[in-house]
Amino acid sequence: MQRILLLAATLGLISILGAQNQPWKGKFEPIDNLIAPPNTFRNASGAPTKSYWQQRADYKIKATIDETNNLLSGEETITYYNNSPDDLSYLWVQLEQNVNKKGNEDFGAIGNRMKDSMNTRQMQFLTRTLDFPAGYSIKSVKDKNNADVETIINNTMMKVKLNDVLKSGTSTTLYINWSYPITDRSLFKLSREGYEYFPEDNNTVYLMGHWFPRMAVYNDTEGWQNQQFQKLGEFALEFGNYEVDITVPADHIVAATGSLENSASVLNKTQLKRFNEAKTAFDKPIMIITEEEAINNEKQKSKKQQTWKFKAENVRDFSFASSRKFLWDVQAVKLATNTVLAMSFYPKEGLPVWRESSTNAIKQALEVYSEATFDYPYPVAISVNTSNVGIEYPMISFNGGRPIGGQISERRKQQMISTIVHEVGHNWFPMIVSSDERKWMWMDEGLNTFLHQRTIAERYPNASSVTPKTIVPFMSGDKSILRPIMTTSDNELFSQFGYNFYYKPTVGLQMLRNSIIGKELFDEAFKEYANRWKYKHPNPADLFRTLEDATATDLDWFFRGWFFTTDHVDMELSEVKWFTVYENQTNLEDRTNKSQVKLNTEGKNSNAKEQDFTNGPEVINMISAPDSAYGQFLSRLDEPQMRKALSGKNIYEITIKNIGGLVMPVTIEWIFTDGSSEIDILPAEIWRKNEYEIQKTFIKEKEVNKVNLDPNFEFPDTDVSNNSFPKTGQDSDFDTFKKNKTN
Ligand SMILES: [Zn+2]
Repeated sequence: MQRILLLAATLGLISILGAQNQPWKGKFEPIDNLIAPPNTFRNASGAPTKSYWQQRADYKIKATIDETNNLLSGEETITYYNNSPDDLSYLWVQLEQNVNKKGNEDFGAIGNRMKDSMNTRQMQFLTRTLDFPAGYSIKSVKDKNNADVETIINNTMMKVKLNDVLKSGTSTTLYINWSYPITDRSLFKLSREGYEYFPEDNNTVYLMGHWFPRMAVYNDTEGWQNQQFQKLGEFALEFGNYEVDITVPADHIVAATGSLENSASVLNKTQLKRFNEAKTAFDKPIMIITEEEAINNEKQKSKKQQTWKFKAENVRDFSFASSRKFLWDVQAVKLATNTVLAMSFYPKEGLPVWRESSTNAIKQALEVYSEATFDYPYPVAISVNTSNVGIEYPMISFNGGRPIGGQISERRKQQMISTIVHEVGHNWFPMIVSSDERKWMWMDEGLNTFLHQRTIAERYPNASSVTPKTIVPFMSGDKSILRPIMTTSDNELFSQFGYNFYYKPTVGLQMLRNSIIGKELFDEAFKEYANRWKYKHPNPADLFRTLEDATATDLDWFFRGWFFTTDHVDMELSEVKWFTVYENQTNLEDRTNKSQVKLNTEGKNSNAKEQDFTNGPEVINMISAPDSAYGQFLSRLDEPQMRKALSGKNIYEITIKNIGGLVMPVTIEWIFTDGSSEIDILPAEIWRKNEYEIQKTFIKEKEVNKVNLDPNFEFPDTDVSNNSFPKTGQDSDFDTFKKNKTN
């Protein structure tokens, strides 16, 4: 018997009507109801409009480090420009150093449990046994008339109740005098800044971040961004110009955001000569302070003070490091529109690997990121060595990674380089493309890690980099603790944020680039987003909209699944059926010379599911379409030509099930009996009509030996054991059959 198949019009219907026993989830519906709507200031294409406004804050600060008491004090002038359409009666100023105050219970809630055995440091995180007087002393807040301004401090936020309403389109000036005890970095969990003490030579490295009272962001979608600082959700900051004078012991070397304005008075003649030479040293770094000189400096312990003057334009923050322990090297990096001084500062404890690799890593990041977005616009890019972790600020970052006794394993060296690339890369996201870190950690970490991993893959090919495979364990993890990427920063678990806010968005962008949009269009769209929002405050909606707007690709299904759910990718290749069609319908007997031909019976359940290709193709009898199938159309298919074209070809109908829930494109690899192979790609839209199961039919000249889904691991498929037909891991019956035949 033969199964009769009308070739016209039926294949499509089968897939529509295929088993659909789960509810429709609207996976391809627009995400308009999930993201912030466009408004007068940011449009539906994801770009800022002509009416877009942003506040601005300029700072003049005189800061002094008291080395004896580890105290930092500052006299600060903030000029705040109200570019908003609103009149403001109060301002919010961030006091992030207050996060370490004992009363800040939320911060202590991270991993706040007793264990059978705990070291003293863990116990301190838990109990705050050593009561350190962290936080600001605000000595005075005055306005431009030198009148006191009333303030109320709510933990890490200070409300400044202006004496006069700040009208839209005007500016005001605040004078704030403050001080705080600098924290020991080892004393608090998640410390990125503070001091590191070296008992061997009785010296300190100061790493000063979020050290001065800073204006909170006021914008069109959030109003005041005055969410408390709890360390995981970092910063939301306004752009402005900075003039900062830093007074430190006279034998200290200071690295800071911005250009050094008084090098002639703070550097000695030798240092100055080397520094000027370094401005054209494009091949390798020049040592401004050598190891020998740094060791000599360690012994000075000067009681005199010296002031370093820095200027920075159009930055959203300012940070600095200071110590007499620093070695210092500088190399010039030429970009298309800017020449940048890449510099590293490190104590001798960072040798030799810091001298060998740090400044070079800065150079690699500057080149790859500039190419992918826009040229690095600032005069310097600095990497400062610390004992652990990495933290970014404009033009300067503090990066962990230190050899032990001068030795460092290849793996730890790669981690160190990776950290430097990452933290330097943050100059783009969020230091220039200034998203709200307090709210959306993934917006800067995810986009930055995407380019960071691209830098590693392109410039350090021997090092391992993040690929879709990297996140499989995370994606297949316990759903009860998984959260969508679109979770606000401080609501994520401490154990999960690395994967959820760094790697998952990275892999999402990799999939968009490599497999969904394509490199050329994606790269243009990514560049478009970066350039639209440089020196501005984008929201997630602006990113989503720009990626669609610049590529003519409907990505709502992707954003919905990848950013708003915890579904994962697991495609199952559940069935492959093999058919052939014969030109000569009448002479069935001629086919008997093909020993493996199977003549199946009709009937719904009569076909046992094939495990491999052993049973050969099912023979399809293609009958002529009756005139009625054409309705009123006058034209007719050229049937003889069609029969000829299909004669002897292999037709494969595959069934794929969506087990994980995420809809994704399907990449199908066909391996033929002659060992050759080819790839077919089905776009994600194949899942529009049935989100759980699809069928698709292919015609192949050659006979297929094996079919694989996602052969190059472009998608983080959590279970690859169901990706092949015949199933992987066992010799297929067909292989056995072929072996027996050839023997
Ligand atoms: Zn980061």
